[in-house]
Amino acid sequence: MFQQYPPVFEIKRKFSRMNKQRIAIDMDEVMADTIQKFIDLYKSAHNIEITIPMMYGKEFRDVLPEELYNTTRKYINEPGFFRDIPVMPDSQRVIKELNEKYEVFVVSAAMEFPNSLIDKYHWLAEHFPFISWTHIIFCGLKIVNVDIFIDDRSRNFVDFDGRKLLYSSPHNLEIAEFERVNNWREVADKLL
Ligand SMILES: [Mg+2]
Repeated sequence: MFQQYPPVFEIKRKFSRMNKQRIAIDMDEVMADTIQKFIDLYKSAHNIEITIPMMYGKEFRDVLPEELYNTTRKYINEPGFFRDIPVMPDSQRVIKELNEKYEVFVVSAAMEFPNSLIDKYHWLAEHFPFISWTHIIFCGLKIVNVDIFIDDRSRNFVDFDGRKLLYSSPHNLEIAEFERVNNWREVADKLL
């Protein structure tokens, strides 16, 4: 009797995964240096100098003058905001190598800022062209079935049972209960 085969896509996917572990990688403040974008933006638009040491344990908006506290959300919601964010140093090289050894997924809670969706898609295509659309997850809450999760927000690790790597960002420097990576070279040391 004729044997029905699964779609080619499924076969390819099974073969390509083999026994590879899966990694989920966050975008903002992990792949994308969103804080540097804010620093540059507030300097050019408001002539305000914010430095990384000023932000220790704080969110960016917490170090702004009171009258500007609510302006970060306005900028984030503007179309184009996420299109020209600087790439985090070494992230392209390390993620490309990770993508050989592991099955890499980019996971971003982009639904919080719907205008960010197309910008983030094009940003990834420009800077991380080796990541297929099949491995980009734009979502609300990050409910992911992976082995390793790299994120700067520890709240995303709630209900996640795998290995958690907290990517250092000024706001999370006082959090001690997670395995920490300070930059992409440290990710490479741990995972490659
Ligand atoms: Mg993030």
